[in-house]
Formats: sequence, C-alpha cells, structure tokens
Amino acid sequence: AIMPTLLSGIANGARQGILFKNGSQLETMGKVRAIAFDKTGTLTTGQVQVFQVIPASNYSQADVLKVAATVESVSEHAIGKAIVKAAADLNWVSAVDVRAIPGQGILGINFDQQVIVGNAAFVQKYVTNLPEDLQKFASVLEQQGKTVVWVAQGAGGRGQGAGGRGQGEFVSSSPLSSPSPLSSPSPLSPEVLGLIAIADEVRAESAATITRLKALGVEQIVMLTGDNQRTADSVAQAVGINQVYAELLPEDKLHVIRRLQKQYQTVAMVGDGINDAPALAQASVGIAMGLAGSDVALETADIVLMADRLEKLAVAMNLGKRAHRIVK
Ligand code: ADP
Ligand code: MG
Repeated sequence: AIMPTLLSGIANGARQGILFKNGSQLETMGKVRAIAFDKTGTLTTGQVQVFQVIPASNYSQADVLKVAATVESVSEHAIGKAIVKAAADLNWVSAVDVRAIPGQGILGINFDQQVIVGNAAFVQKYVTNLPEDLQKFASVLEQQGKTVVWVAQGAGGRGQGAGGRGQGEFVSSSPLSSPSPLSSPSPLSPEVLGLIAIADEVRAESAATITRLKALGVEQIVMLTGDNQRTADSVAQAVGINQVYAELLPEDKLHVIRRLQKQYQTVAMVGDGINDAPALAQASVGIAMGLAGSDVALETADIVLMADRLEKLAVAMNLGKRAHRIVK
C-alpha cells in the first residue's frame, strides 16, 4: 500500500525535524544521484559578521561602514544585516530608492550621492577601477574564506573633486521617478571608499554530512554560490566538496541544476536564499534551511530542514530509499 508507507515516512521525517511537503518528494529523495549546495547560510551558518574594514586612501573605516549602512539598512541579506550592526554607533540615515540586486549587491541614493555596495563584478560596473592595493587585500582575505564587499559612492565626498568617469547605469535621485539608467555618465562618478570583509563560519556538521552522503551513494556533490571563486574554494575545501561553481547569478544556479539533471537525472538542491529559489524550483528535490531560509526559499522547497541541521539530509535520504523500496 503506497499511502501508509509514504505517510509513515513523512511522519518519521517530521519527528526528526524534516518537513516533507508531499509523499512523492520523499520517494524522489531516495533516488537522488547528485546534490548541489548553496554556500552562504547553507554550508555556512550565515551568521555573518564584519571581520575587517579597509578604507581607500582619503577615507576612514567609519566612512566605509556608514555609507554601506545607508543602503544595507533595508537589506534582507545577511551581509547587509552584519554591516548595519557594525555601523550601529555611527551617524547615518537610510538611503532612498534602494534596490537590492540578488546575488550581486545593493544600490541607493544617499542625499544626492549614488551608493553602490556589492561584489567586485557588480561594483566595477559603476566605478572606473578598484584600487590595486585594496584588490591585493581582497584576494588575501578571500583565500581565507572571507567574503569581500566593495563600497562606492558618487562624487568624491569629503571635499574631493569628481573622480574618473564611471560607466554603467545610474539611478535617478528623484524619489518620485522610478529608478532608470541615465544616458550619459554622471559628472560626479562613483569611486571606491573601501572594502568590508565579512566572516562566516562553516557549519560544524557540513563536512561530516558530505562524507555521509557520499557513503550513501550520492555520485556528485557540488557547491553553487554567488560569492567569488577564492572564497568559495576555501569553504569547499573545508567541507570536502571538489566541484565549485562560483560567481553565479540566481539563474546561473538554475542552469547548473539543469546540466546536472542531464547527467544524473535526479538532482537535489539545498539552499536558503532568494537567490536559490530558481534552482530550488528546478531541482528534482528542492531543500530549504528552515531557520536561515528566506520566505521564498521555504515556499519553493519540497523539503524543509526545520532546525537547519544539515545532517538530516542523510536521514531524509534513508527515509526516501525505504519508501522507494516498499512502493516499488
Ligand atoms: P550565496 O550564493 O553564497 O548565498 P548571494 O548570491 O546571496 O550568495 O550573494 C553573492 C554575492 O553578492 C555576495 O557574496 C556579495 O558579495 C554580493 N551581495 C549580495 N547581496 C549583497 C548585499 N545586500 N550587500 C552586499 N553584497 C551583496
Ligand atoms: Mg545562501
């Protein structure tokens, strides 16, 4: 009898903090041959903290934190929350026209200044260059597994003249008009104020979970992240994953899942963020972290790990295999 088996599997899962949204996903879980893991908030705790602030010449650490906080104050991203916390004792007000770009960064208008905060590729669209000395610091920090976020602002600030000419889109400063690119570069081009290195801890159970899943017969385990390659490699090495896809946009994550499905048919994706939602939907089984998970991730997933305990993946897989055997 199909129903009683699946129902008992689901109940068993629930007792162990694994929420299966329906029985068919329980079965599919037993057939998974490849698993893709998001990095931040999934393999790591996502309880990120500001680790270091390195200002560009002519700026202070406080300048960097304050300006970043003006846009991050409306961010739902863990990075944004960490920055706002670190800037709590400084004097700043929230920017207007703030737009978060999932997987890349966040933009806004601070008084009449354009503020850009995000990864190198994103910020580079708005500034002429990332200062070379800071790039060296960034690469060392990234090799240590830190996530580096760049902070830029339009005009020189603190009496500096206009810097080089920026490229890319600029957002209108009028709160009445919706943000739209201007046709020509602003005369006051954004320049880099500094970088913020963010530290995140690898979950205690990540490495053991990867080992266990391999022992259960999972043929391929990969990491998918919007973070940069060096940071991603460092975390992957710590948890025992040797296939890393970094600097991915949310839709890139989906494409990697599709490719894995061509090779391995049944593919699970484990994630927590808004940026993981397309991949969670595409995967044969989407699995979300219950505590760290954003609303969209929780809605999109087929399975929710209620207490964010990654080791429950192996339990879920065993329940799935059992259901599959009996149903067959
Ligand atoms: P992951 O895939 O590891 O969960 P995301 O896709 O959410 O990471 O973000 C990818 C990268 O984009 C981050 O490492 C960061 O550099 C940048 N980023 C995204 N959102 C923000 C934000 N609100 N503030 C600053 N940087 C951000
Ligand atoms: Mg994440």
